[in-house]
Amino acid sequence: MKKVLITGAAGFLGSHLCDRFIKQGYSVIAMDNLITGNLSNIEHLFPNKHFEFFHHDVTKFVHVPGKLDYILHFASPASPIDYLKIPIQTLKVGAMGTHNLLGLAKAKNARILVASTSEVYGDPEVHPQPESYKGHVNPVGPRGVYDEAKRYMEAITMAYHTYHGLETRIVRIFNTYGPRMRLNDGRVLPAFIGQALRDEDLTIFGDGSQTRSFCYVDDLIEGIYRLLLSDCSDPVNIGNPDEITIKEFAEEIVKLTGKNNKVVYKPLPKDDPMQRQPNIDKARKLLDWSPKVDRAHGLQITYDYFKSLPKEELYRKEHNTFEGYVRK
Ligand code: UDP
Repeated sequence: MKKVLITGAAGFLGSHLCDRFIKQGYSVIAMDNLITGNLSNIEHLFPNKHFEFFHHDVTKFVHVPGKLDYILHFASPASPIDYLKIPIQTLKVGAMGTHNLLGLAKAKNARILVASTSEVYGDPEVHPQPESYKGHVNPVGPRGVYDEAKRYMEAITMAYHTYHGLETRIVRIFNTYGPRMRLNDGRVLPAFIGQALRDEDLTIFGDGSQTRSFCYVDDLIEGIYRLLLSDCSDPVNIGNPDEITIKEFAEEIVKLTGKNNKVVYKPLPKDDPMQRQPNIDKARKLLDWSPKVDRAHGLQITYDYFKSLPKEELYRKEHNTFEGYVRK
């Protein structure tokens, strides 16, 4: 039985990866410090004898007993609100956390896949963004802590590959949505759906002409799975090229919820990218992968998930934050 370590396992993507690897017959070691993750995302896996959870912060030395075949490093705050709130931890998990996991991969002779992001392209001047685009990032802006941590992560991962011959994979993840997103993490989809369910106005930042391209989580997980098993050590974009303005997106959410929410306009946050769409030619060619779930279907599943949550979740300000650890 192959054994995989998944960091950030209690988070949105980490928990879906745990499900996928258990389903594929792997033994899964899940690791999370629960700063932004939530155990309820993986508690259904606890009875499984091939699933083990370690409550651990990967910026500290990481020890895993026995053999290890694969590591998937998905631990990181990943929403603009989170990394504004915990900027130092965001930098540390991308830099020191990645270094620890590369060291572990080397010691265990394991293959490691690291979760990078479209944020390495910053506010892009090339559209859509191919992997060859080197980016337009402000290192000292509010997003710098995330963007630069992920750029460093890519650099050190590539250095372990070239210097130590480690088997490495780098996925650049574009905006992804689906069940288990945190309702209050500030990202646009849970923000809009939460506002709709609470009968509040939907808050559009800027004039809503900025674009994003949203990928349903199952498609993303399939792409990551294929990349891990491929022989491609260069970065690969995984995302859905179906691009939409944030204003149109708000209209879709209002239609989906069948409510009559108004939209209100708020100032655009600093360095908020104006456009984003992945060029996925490489994933199509090397992984024979492309997204299958259209937005109408994916949004319906996601809306049904948020609707099924206990009502108090809708009004909860934070999930699983450790008092004293996160400075308000
Ligand atoms: N956004 C918005 N209203 C909100 C939350 C976000 O208009 O309540 C905008 C945000 O300014 C950005 C886009 O939606 O242009 C996507 O934001 P998100 O935080 O989901 O992710 P990003 O792609 O910016 O990292």
